[in-house]
Amino acid sequence: MFDYVVIGKGLIGSAAARYLSMRGRTAVIGPDEPPDLQTHEGVFASHYDQGRITRQLSRDAVWAALARMSIGQYAALGAESGIRFHYPVGGLYVPAAAEASSYLAEMAGLAERVAVDYEVMDEAALHGRWPYLRFSDGWSGLYEAAPAGYINPRQLIRAQLAAGQKQGLEIVRETAVSLESSLDYLTITTDAGQSYRTKKVLVAAGAFSNAFDLLLQKLKVRVKTETIILAETPPDAAERWAEMPPVIYYIESPELDSIYLLPPIRYPDGRIYLKMGCNTVADRYLSDLTEIGEWFRQGQSDVMLEAMRAALQGIMPDLAALSWQTGRCVVTYTTHGRPYIGLVGDGRIGVAVGGNGSGAKSSDGIGRLGAAVLADDRWATDLAEDLFRPVFEA
Ligand SMILES: Cc1cc2nc3c(=O)[nH]c(=O)nc-3n(C[C@H](O)[C@H](O)[C@H](O)COP(=O)(O)OP(=O)(O)OC[C@H]3O[C@@H](n4cnc5c(N)ncnc54)[C@H](O)[C@@H]3O)c2cc1C
Repeated sequence: MFDYVVIGKGLIGSAAARYLSMRGRTAVIGPDEPPDLQTHEGVFASHYDQGRITRQLSRDAVWAALARMSIGQYAALGAESGIRFHYPVGGLYVPAAAEASSYLAEMAGLAERVAVDYEVMDEAALHGRWPYLRFSDGWSGLYEAAPAGYINPRQLIRAQLAAGQKQGLEIVRETAVSLESSLDYLTITTDAGQSYRTKKVLVAAGAFSNAFDLLLQKLKVRVKTETIILAETPPDAAERWAEMPPVIYYIESPELDSIYLLPPIRYPDGRIYLKMGCNTVADRYLSDLTEIGEWFRQGQSDVMLEAMRAALQGIMPDLAALSWQTGRCVVTYTTHGRPYIGLVGDGRIGVAVGGNGSGAKSSDGIGRLGAAVLADDRWATDLAEDLFRPVFEA
């Protein structure tokens, strides 16, 4: 029998599993990334990618604290696992012209308060440093220095699992389909027909946490489509743009909102891509396993290709992409905008769910809080526990 089982081998689950494996016999249950998303019939994840922005500054104080808590662990985790996942190239934030002065003042104030290195830059300074980037006329921005940058989410999960395995973490590459409670233990049954007994369980199955019989009451979450584009970047251009930081750009556009752009990164197919994502007018909420699966397999992400391509060409006019493609993902939102972390029922089941589009950088901290609450019923941070209270469907 296990002391702890984590359901979900994603960003939050792998972190929680590493922390729990310091406390007792632990397994993490979750499938590997499917080789072909278009034909895959099981669950998917929000981390099948090579780049996620990481930064300490956020207008939301709770997310900023979670990020700092997590970023503080990156170096130790990298060293312990021997796996590189963090690229501290800084980050550039470009507000919409209309709110530039208030945004920059607020972010600069936050940076001062938490002692983060930053620079407010006008158009000339920005153009001098990154001559290949363009935004609206008269643009200005705030540059956050390292350790801001990006993480490779696939590598971060590998690092969490490798470090966990050194502590005895067991990995079960299956999908949990039910969770039953009896007096002395909990039983998890998987799609492989296997059963696992454990004293306690943490559900960290992201967008799929409600999809099976894992929780007696469904969590109140909304799962939204997220579209990205990948611009295949010629290797010589990628070399010229090697110093490019990830960018967050509050574009003024009738179709797009809140752009995030990653620098050129090499993908598993050997090619180099610039990745851009944003909210779009075509975004919609998905209600269940079937709808989420259909979106990942064959959702109509190409309807936004032209608008997103035009936006990226506007930001990087010198980009002569070798190819363009869209990609599909989902974002899991909670009612209060922060992850749900807490115990449910009789206290033997916990949840750590709801990245709200910001969970990758902070997944280590979210997993750590979930692990502490499950193992000891202990709230392991100064942030009020109530901020993270799980909310259930009526
Ligand atoms: C396009 C996109 C860009 C993003 N960019 C950023 C960014 O720049 N910075 C940032 O901080 N965040 C970003 N995010 C958010 C971040 O990726 C998510 O918050 C994060 O992946 C959430 O982690 P998770 O562990 O909850 O979910 P996931 O990473 O999706 O992991 C959930 C895991 O649970 C597994 N699972 C599901 N059901 C079961 C089951 N029944 N049994 C076993 N396993 C199961 C899945 O296989 C999956 O591996 C982005 C998200 C998207 C979609």
